Amino acid sequence: MPVLRRNVVGTMRKKQQRQKLNAAPFPSHWNSILEDHFPLYARLPDEDRKELQDHIQVFLAEKRFEGCGGLEITEEMKVCIAAQACLLLLHRETDCYPNLRSILVYPSTYSVKTTRHVGAGVMEERQDSRLGEAWDSGAVVLAWDAVHSGTANPEDGHNVVFHEFAHQLDFEDGRADGAPVLATEDPWYRRKNRYKAWARVLSSEYEKLRANVAAGEKTALDEYGATNPAEFFAVATESFFERPRDLQQRHPALYEELRRFYQQDPVGWAPAAEVGNGTDRKPTLPISPHAPERQTDTQE
Ligand SMILES: [Zn+2]
Repeated sequence: MPVLRRNVVGTMRKKQQRQKLNAAPFPSHWNSILEDHFPLYARLPDEDRKELQDHIQVFLAEKRFEGCGGLEITEEMKVCIAAQACLLLLHRETDCYPNLRSILVYPSTYSVKTTRHVGAGVMEERQDSRLGEAWDSGAVVLAWDAVHSGTANPEDGHNVVFHEFAHQLDFEDGRADGAPVLATEDPWYRRKNRYKAWARVLSSEYEKLRANVAAGEKTALDEYGATNPAEFFAVATESFFERPRDLQQRHPALYEELRRFYQQDPVGWAPAAEVGNGTDRKPTLPISPHAPERQTDTQE
């Protein structure tokens, strides 16, 4: 069969399979898991919750979960991870993380051996502790205790699932540069303007964060976002969904760009008062969470 025809047939088959999945009722025990463990779920408008359920059914049917370090994957783990990954997809034209095949889950912070060039041809080898990683070769790696605490604390601005799946969205155009695919359905001239606005706002906010971090000032966004533009987008995504009022108040232009991209307005369903002030919050686990994406690319 010619490649083009095979692709068309494959796309049609995938669409039919997804329709079939979504025609089945959302399992009530999955609903109970989300009600018990994912506080943001209860805050969503009814129509968003239904859309999220559809995405979760597809996600769980199409992606493979693998326990690492002796972890046995449970349904609670799968449903909680899928729900948070799929929250990033609502209202948008998406293909449910088309390049992602596997989610690897460790029980807790895991360590990875890394090497880096330290000059004069000398390589330094060290162990890095991690909460999660996103690989553009088709995998996300997560530490379950970080997922669990991020899921249970929806207002602390730390959520490793939002973070790593924001990286996956960023990878979809083949580049880990902090600019995901924007507005595919627009005419080209509007699309061009969207990218220009995104670049202007995100670059300026990223530079501001870098300057604040260098000056030792407190920041609304996690200072890990000052690492590079890809990390900035991932960190900003965590704040957008978990501390939307704070982000909108202190970084209105950034909030607006993320609102346009995600086509969601979390301020509408966030509690009136977000706990803490966003600057004094402590990471849920006291370690450096993520590797630069270029480093992780080579690990599969
Ligand atoms: Zn990251």
